[in-house]
Amino acid sequence: MDLFEYQGKQYFARYGIPVSPGGVADTVEEALGVAERVGFPVVVKAQVKVGGRGKAGGVKLATTPDEVRTHARGILGLDIKGHVVQRLWVEHASEIAKEYYASFTLDRPNKAHLGMLSAQGGVEIEVVAAENPEAIAMLPIDPVRGLDVATARRWVADAGLDEAARAQAADLLVALYRCYTEGDCDLAEINPLILTPGGEVHALDAKVTLDDNAAFRHPEWDEFRGDEFEDPRERRAREKGLNYIGLDGSVGIIANGAGLAMSTLDVVNQVGGSAANFLDIGGGANADVMAAALEVINADPKVRSIFVNIFGGITRVDEVAQGVLEALARVEIASPIVLRLDGTNAVEGRAILAPHLNDRLVTEPTMLEAARRAVALAR
Ligand code: GDP
Ligand code: MN
Repeated sequence: MDLFEYQGKQYFARYGIPVSPGGVADTVEEALGVAERVGFPVVVKAQVKVGGRGKAGGVKLATTPDEVRTHARGILGLDIKGHVVQRLWVEHASEIAKEYYASFTLDRPNKAHLGMLSAQGGVEIEVVAAENPEAIAMLPIDPVRGLDVATARRWVADAGLDEAARAQAADLLVALYRCYTEGDCDLAEINPLILTPGGEVHALDAKVTLDDNAAFRHPEWDEFRGDEFEDPRERRAREKGLNYIGLDGSVGIIANGAGLAMSTLDVVNQVGGSAANFLDIGGGANADVMAAALEVINADPKVRSIFVNIFGGITRVDEVAQGVLEALARVEIASPIVLRLDGTNAVEGRAILAPHLNDRLVTEPTMLEAARRAVALAR
């Protein structure tokens, strides 16, 4: 999950990384309120999950209430690379002596973390990497050993950060590394990291990607999920613990295993249909999971038919069949269901379903035939 800048800064602040005082604003009046609270001058910043906001006119300095109004009005609703600005972050403006770049990310091939630090910040790091790669000090970090202050001190010197910034920057980088590891980020980036004329080092921007696989140990991440921007189907599915991704088509999909679920989307496409979702119920195809899956798909108004594609392995098809029947007893489903059941105990599973089949609940012997049937029913 990518965070907005203001959320990234809130996350940074938990780990003691210095950021400017500010607040979010969804209207011009709110922006003015924040500006008066944090004190002029302020920066008015578009909150969109895309870089290069400054260049696109999404970051503006304001020294008076009138300027706040003008900029807030101009930035709200602005389209930045296809992202329409719905929210602003207004913070007390900093004076800038120097702009640096700092980030931590995963170096998968080397099974390590990678720190990147440059005295040339504020510009796109990709440009620095292409034109002046030696200006970026790369620091591979063994995840077991971590990053200590002594290493961070050498690193800030190697990167050529100004003397005045080094001690604070080293401490900040250790804090950022803690945020990145303990905070389960895939990416924690500060561009620019600034040195002020007064000799303070702090984060002027925040780009944070959280590792969704770690969400189970971060109940506090829920506050980062903005209901207003999210697909309601995906929210419902997540509340039920399902591995679901909403799509635009009319055939609801339930499959066991991510690979089979993806093949199911392909086959539905191949026979001229389009899937309403990706949904992998994994190995837990019991009545609870099946009922939850059917409920989520049933609540999608675009769905016209449901294709349940199960290949029994460790999951036994007779249990799945039982699960489907129990689920149907609990949930009233608006669309016809086409089942393809194969693999372990398929014969037993089909026998369980046989007495219950009708024109709303049908089985087909193969994946291809089931896909054709589901697509025909969706027309
Ligand atoms: P980005 O363009 O999406 O990366 O947005 P940033 O938050 O990095 O802001 C872009 C640029 O605006 C920065 O590189 C700074 O040069 C400038 N900027 C942002 N905040 C301030 C501030 O508080 N004071 C000053 N003087 N400039 C700022
Ligand atoms: Mn930036």
